[in-house]
Amino acid sequence: ATMPPLLAAIATAGRHGVLVKSAVVLERLGTVTQVAFDKTGTLTEGRPHLTEVRVLAGDVAAERLLALAAAAEQDSEHPLGRAVVQAARTAGLPIARAYEFGSEPGRGVRARVDGMLVEVAGPAQLVAGGREAAGRGSLRSAEVERVAREVVGEFQRGGHTAVLVRIDGVLTGVLALADRMRPGAAATVARLTALTGAGPVLLTGDNGPAAARLAAQAGIRDVRADLLPGDKMEAVADLQRQGARLALVGDGVNDAPALASAHVGIAMGSTGSDLALDTADAVITRDELATIPAVIALARRARRLVV
Ligand code: ADP
Ligand code: MG
Repeated sequence: ATMPPLLAAIATAGRHGVLVKSAVVLERLGTVTQVAFDKTGTLTEGRPHLTEVRVLAGDVAAERLLALAAAAEQDSEHPLGRAVVQAARTAGLPIARAYEFGSEPGRGVRARVDGMLVEVAGPAQLVAGGREAAGRGSLRSAEVERVAREVVGEFQRGGHTAVLVRIDGVLTGVLALADRMRPGAAATVARLTALTGAGPVLLTGDNGPAAARLAAQAGIRDVRADLLPGDKMEAVADLQRQGARLALVGDGVNDAPALASAHVGIAMGSTGSDLALDTADAVITRDELATIPAVIALARRARRLVV
């Protein structure tokens, strides 16, 4: 007996490296009109590495700062967190035990290390205007925030992701991390543009300058940066209200709400967090972006056989 076209197509997709979770998902893939990408771990390899540690408050060594940040990040499943831990290990630094670990998707982590509260997080609040420093009312912390803004800007203009380290509430240092674009990203963007007639969109929690730089390399024109997980979901809703049937490709815990609300949510199997893999409608098991246009084309052919 021959297999029904949709099931046959699901089997074919599986062999080509995309796990499609149901026949309904395959049908939906065949009607996608635009694709949106998350950045870190999706368009990039998701293996960022530490490139610099800049101490702001003078009384702590760079190595101590890195060791504390790594301790706070050791339970993080975020690629940035893993990179910080890896850098500390490579440098042979001791990583202390952390207590009361907490993470906020799209923002960062906090934990108690050696009795101190260590927070490692993106510079979102800084860019928003250093309210914290003003609140504390100390000239010194206002000065540190100003310097931090400069350092963050310098890192970001260089295409890096900047991460702040706070120790007991004091802004102590800035880390710079760099990630590589996945091979084939630009070709996939071009292929998707030809296939759907619409240019892909970049939705990222990372900063504007780094996002814009990567988007330019990949050939993406529509870039939305500094998005928290809820903002990503809103951006998806926004594009869909304008009529797009969106396939969102993501990997992070921060992508889960957006993956759930997209016409089709696709998770990156290699870098994907458990939540993203569970939430998505399809999972890329072969670590290649080219599988996305391929599965859309396959799903279209399968629909034509059915209807
Ligand atoms: P993306 O959308 O590009 O995958 P995320 O939404 O996961 O990025 O993260 C957005 C930003 O939040 C990061 O660029 C970083 O500034 C900060 N961040 C998130 N998780 C962490 C973490 N574990 N450690 C440090 N910073 C983090
Ligand atoms: Mg990501």
